Amino acid sequence: MEPDVVFSIAVPVYNEVESLPELHRRVTEIMEQVGEPWELLLIDDGSTDGSTDWILAKAQEDAHIKPVIFARNFGHQIAVTAGLDYSRGQAVVIMDADLQDPPEVIADLIEKWRDGFEVVYAVRAEREGETWFKKATAALFYRLINRITDVDIPVDTGDFRLMDRQVVNVLSGMRERHRFPRAMVAWVGFRQIGVPYTRAARYAGETKYPFRKMLRLALNAITGFSYFPLQIATYLGFFSAGISILAIPVVIALRLMGSQAFFGQATTLIAVLFLGGVQLISLGILGEYIGRLYDEAKGRPLYIVREAPEKPGQP
Ligand code: UDP
Ligand code: MG
Repeated sequence: MEPDVVFSIAVPVYNEVESLPELHRRVTEIMEQVGEPWELLLIDDGSTDGSTDWILAKAQEDAHIKPVIFARNFGHQIAVTAGLDYSRGQAVVIMDADLQDPPEVIADLIEKWRDGFEVVYAVRAEREGETWFKKATAALFYRLINRITDVDIPVDTGDFRLMDRQVVNVLSGMRERHRFPRAMVAWVGFRQIGVPYTRAARYAGETKYPFRKMLRLALNAITGFSYFPLQIATYLGFFSAGISILAIPVVIALRLMGSQAFFGQATTLIAVLFLGGVQLISLGILGEYIGRLYDEAKGRPLYIVREAPEKPGQP
């Protein structure tokens, strides 16, 4: 029997064939230094560029590599979840395949874990090779999330982090479909601490997170952790009703004084369009929540694997 794994490194992979050899080399180097039994879970999220073959071939050579091959692309968040599900280590590190998260930082994360912290997240002290647009939208997003949700997500953190087995087990039991792992980890609690690092530029290839996907993720975070958008409808309703109640006596008084104001269709049209718009937007917000509710109600599996190691039993 192989020795019990102490550290699991879980890496979602989507078309990263150029980065994989370097990732494997650097992770191996650092984990050899750490000197405890480890595994490298490579979760192939429906790659089409040959990453799958590379992973499967390399796993034949290096027993540390545990391939989890998805049947299609399920998305980064789901791939991270699969990484947690299949991990066996006492601590699990989540990191990207594109080497933006330098494997050397793992040693710092482990050090804090040994100090007794259950969650050690890497904080981006600096970022190389990212557009100002990405940084600005990210900053705005964190501010918004921290304001309207109950969880406090540490600013400038990504999914690069180490989690203790206790935390991983809790997260594995949270099977929500539209997920935002960062907020879920913050929600779970435990002793958490940050470690600063410099986020490198992408090693090869291009980002798999276009604006559209970032927006989806932001919506997952907001709807998953807050009712605030639903409450906006209530606020707007009170606001419009309040204005109309105030307006009625004013208009009556003006008319009695013989004023011609508030005749004409333009005023009516504006009011109708405004209210119609508010109602449609509220309906749309409601739809976002109902759609998610419907997805959860179907209870489909989060992901489908084509090939994977045996799943460790849940406690
Ligand atoms: N990724 C994935 N599935 C996807 C998109 C991305 O598994 O549908 C992986 C990708 O291979 C990488 C990580 O998620 O390891 C982060 O993606 P990326 O580097 O493109 O995001 P960015 O760093 O630009 O935010
Ligand atoms: Mg990246």
